[in-house]
Amino acid sequence: MNRAHEVYEGIYLIGGSDITHSADCSVYLVDCGKDTLVLIDSGAGPSYNLLVDNAGSLGFDLTNLKALILTHKHVDHIGGAAKFRKNYGCKVIAHELDAKGIEEGERFLTGAEAYGIILEPCPIDIKLNQPETRITFGKLEFNLIWTPGHTPGSISVVVDVKGKRVLFGQDIHGPLIPAWGADIEKYRESMKKLINQKADILCEGHFGVYQPADKVKKYIEGYLKQYSH
Ligand SMILES: [Zn+2]
Ligand SMILES: [Zn+2]
Repeated sequence: MNRAHEVYEGIYLIGGSDITHSADCSVYLVDCGKDTLVLIDSGAGPSYNLLVDNAGSLGFDLTNLKALILTHKHVDHIGGAAKFRKNYGCKVIAHELDAKGIEEGERFLTGAEAYGIILEPCPIDIKLNQPETRITFGKLEFNLIWTPGHTPGSISVVVDVKGKRVLFGQDIHGPLIPAWGADIEKYRESMKKLINQKADILCEGHFGVYQPADKVKKYIEGYLKQYSH
């Protein structure tokens, strides 16, 4: 197992399939300054305690957790959400088109059935419904960009940190399963939108961190090529 670690100034990888649980997505904790922490995705659920321990071992007090941004409704990203919200009072943010699955703990479209995980329903405090929504936490402005394709309500997160643009692109690699609500045309438009962000660092949903900017662009273009007609 790898350990939780800082991937760039104030951005920490605290969970993932080789860090906390085989079913987990990459879980990123952002130190926004001013005693404000933001979590991007929450793992599949069984790893909740380990994620809390990892944040603690890096010196963070999760009573400062102000927000949990859920990039989309798949269980590997949302399974721990209800516990974080209940125990730390953080605001849960997700796109309205993926809200139903998260709030109802739906089993099929979230992938909970396929993963064999009991999904705890989680209320969403802020439902996004715009192409882009900017929210400031601590000293950082988060741009939440609607990037449908992998799911109807997928979002990507862009934050400028100390002169570099960081993109939390999450499941750029897909898969695109129509039965789970994926849409290849929308995915392609969304990926072009992400390339236009010209990010310096990509924090991917499962496959690690990519930099500098030309590698980020190449990574996204590679999947655009894979998911073409
Ligand atoms: Zn995923
Ligand atoms: Zn996914």
